[in-house]
Amino acid sequence: AVRFIDLNKSYGAVHVLHDINLDVPEATTTCIIGPSGSGKSTLLRCTNLLERPEAGKIMIGDEEATARDTNIDKLRERVGMVFQHFCLFNHLDVMDNVTLALRKVRKMGRAQAEALAMEQLDAVGLKGFERRRPADLSGGQQQRVAIARSLAMQPAIMLFDEATSALDPELVKGVLELMGELAKSGMTMIVVTHEMRFAREVAGRLVFMDKGRIVEQGPPDEVFDQPKSPRLQHFLNQVL
Ligand code: ATP
Ligand code: MG
Repeated sequence: AVRFIDLNKSYGAVHVLHDINLDVPEATTTCIIGPSGSGKSTLLRCTNLLERPEAGKIMIGDEEATARDTNIDKLRERVGMVFQHFCLFNHLDVMDNVTLALRKVRKMGRAQAEALAMEQLDAVGLKGFERRRPADLSGGQQQRVAIARSLAMQPAIMLFDEATSALDPELVKGVLELMGELAKSGMTMIVVTHEMRFAREVAGRLVFMDKGRIVEQGPPDEVFDQPKSPRLQHFLNQVL
């Protein structure tokens, strides 16, 4: 489980997260929606310490991720992240992308790392693509590699930041299905998305952020069908 407690984050003089309090229960998917600039990415980036919040805490299980002495490598093994633009290593082939952290961070031998990677590549439907470079894959395939790479580290939690936003429309569905299967398998996930149907179908909880604050949260049907705040009503009118 992940708990955000009175979390605050600024970039210089710009205060972008205000007193975020959020509980993400184990084995559920929490979707975060909200307008551009509302702080969704910043919240995810704080969760694996790509950004440091100035105040408040993030608890991951019993451990405080935001503690001064947190081992960042260890934290990122437990908290996988998938980005909009895949962030693959373009000079490495698929297999080397998936095994890199296993070998360098986990210090795993090549054979063991490759066996684990093959399992993950098979699971995301990319068996046979091991020797391709990212540039020779479709966007959807690249995103599957990024997901396989994260899953190979056997994380406890997965963060997705608009994982389908850069994909051609016909490739979105496959990646969303993969994320849906992962959710069903019991992974704890925090998913920033513009895919409202995915959010309604897969999320256990839906969170609406605006201007750096959590404005509403609850079961997706409730949040979508009975929005309380004018800000959420306005947002839903624009995206639905
Ligand atoms: P989008 O839907 O467009 O991805 P978002 O909800 O993910 O938006 P963030 O990227 O978290 O929003 O940005 C929140 C605010 O912080 C914005 O006003 C943005 O301009 C600002 N911001 C983000 N990153 C930085 C940075 N590195 N330095 C300064 N300001 C930043
Ligand atoms: Mg963002």
